[in-house]
Amino acid sequence: MEINLLYSGVNALILLLILSSPYKIIQKPIDFGSLNLLPTTDTASTDFGRLQFNPPASVLKPKTPEDISLLLSFLSSSSFSQVSVSARGAGHSIHGQAQALDGIVIDMGSLPLEIKVHKNGEMESGLSYVDASGGALWIEVLKETMKVGLAPRSWTDYLYLTIGGTLSNGGISGQTFKHGPQIANVLELDVVTGKGEMVTCSPTKSSELFYAVLGGLGQFGIITRARVPLQQAPKKVRWQRAFYDDFETFTKDQELLISIPELVDYVEGFVVLNEQSLHSSLVAFPAHLEFKPEFVRNGRFKVYYCIEFAIHVNQVESIHVEKVVKEISRMLSYMQSHLYSVEVSYLDFLNRVSMEEESLRSKGLWEVPHPWLNMFVPRSGIKKFMNFLMESLSPNEFEGPILVYPLLSDKWNTNASIALPRAIETGKERVMYVVGVLRSINPTVCKMDCLNQILHEHHQIAQAASRPHIGARQYLAHHRSRIDWHEHFDSKWTRFAERKAQFDPLHILAPGQGIFPRVTVDLQE
Ligand code: FAD
Repeated sequence: MEINLLYSGVNALILLLILSSPYKIIQKPIDFGSLNLLPTTDTASTDFGRLQFNPPASVLKPKTPEDISLLLSFLSSSSFSQVSVSARGAGHSIHGQAQALDGIVIDMGSLPLEIKVHKNGEMESGLSYVDASGGALWIEVLKETMKVGLAPRSWTDYLYLTIGGTLSNGGISGQTFKHGPQIANVLELDVVTGKGEMVTCSPTKSSELFYAVLGGLGQFGIITRARVPLQQAPKKVRWQRAFYDDFETFTKDQELLISIPELVDYVEGFVVLNEQSLHSSLVAFPAHLEFKPEFVRNGRFKVYYCIEFAIHVNQVESIHVEKVVKEISRMLSYMQSHLYSVEVSYLDFLNRVSMEEESLRSKGLWEVPHPWLNMFVPRSGIKKFMNFLMESLSPNEFEGPILVYPLLSDKWNTNASIALPRAIETGKERVMYVVGVLRSINPTVCKMDCLNQILHEHHQIAQAASRPHIGARQYLAHHRSRIDWHEHFDSKWTRFAERKAQFDPLHILAPGQGIFPRVTVDLQE
């Protein structure tokens, strides 16, 4: 049964009393004028990490961006409320970033899915782009744009993430060295600020808000639409993997590959730690490998590395691609005869992780805890960082990939909120590596103590690596205190805090990030 309340001051008061009552749980759906506030669900209090479970008091299923604006206008003008609000995209965060304990979670997937493609020539600028709602998944955007032979340029490895979710973080993958992160591939945004204002912003219109929300961890506003530039979608992709037994040769070759963007469209790489990491990486890569690594040599663990790079193939260019692959292979120093090549459709290539997801789901290993650690490491510190990281791991027990690949600083816009290593922000170094320690935990083997131990180790690694001798920064960061956040943003902290004061002065948005405690103002004062 729904309780129908008209939107008025009195009813708003009732709503807030319910939300701030000691019970904190709405027992029945409330139709708050046009707002559909529902009781909390398990989904709203969990995420991919399965490390944090913070139930909200209520879930908003908006039908329009105006619904979000109505809620935030109301909360930001009611002085005694303590209610916080989190947008939840696909909930693929690790540490509860999209959760709102005792607050309101906005289910962005409830907004009507809108994906409108504007093909080159139809608009006066001549640029092709797509307008997609903030809760749209990247896979949905890809499928829609491919219908007219187009696609966004910059991706994440996994596509079941929302536009708003990845743009609030960064959005990186093997294309980032060439096109920049997803946050550098946005033309315009519709945002509802923490004050409930609905603003269309771009690099030239309300630019402060535009750059604030890009990589802004959901702190400044809720993205309800993004305009993303498109390029021609290739028909196929030539996908190569080359194996290495030496880290320096591996990174030297990766850096060589990112120095030839005119030939190469994608560069990543990963550590081959054990049989499991070798085989799980093959789920989406349909090649027969002759590579039979010895993981223990003279009683010691031996680690290998794999570079993957890809070249887009258009129908007319197949012969040319063959020549390019040969030319590039000659420049690389991989382990002899261990270069493998497959040709797959563009969709299968971009959607490769969903094949791994399917395989892991079938073994009950997808919905398990994921204590992930992602770091941006300046080139000068990558060797030290990897030595340090590897010392903390037991290679025979580790499950999940460890990604290592280089990015280029000049593809990032320093106005965006995301924190990068100081050496990159200041232009002192041009190359930084992303290191993703993407561990899956089998809960029957690793229980609470073991999980806490891993989280503790990650904390230690992140702390130590952020010191000047390595100068790394966390990506998709999780910090325990405001001081840690201050250090994380470093020279960008003042601007970050000023933007918060401007766009969400009561600190209503994204409490799950744990950066700004909610501000309460007593009406009696
Ligand atoms: P959520 O987890 O729902 O939200 C994340 C944060 O953004 C929260 O603070 C939330 O409040 C805020 N938010 C959500 N929607 C909006 C909105 N519309 N407006 C404003 N704020 C919003 N990242 C990469 O960069 N590259 C990768 O290759 C990559 N691969 C991944 C693979 C997997 C399997 C997983 C689980 C994650 C991966 N990620 C990757 C991380 C991913 O980009 C982030 O976790 C991202 O936040 C997930 O999007 P989401 O829609 O699930 O966001």
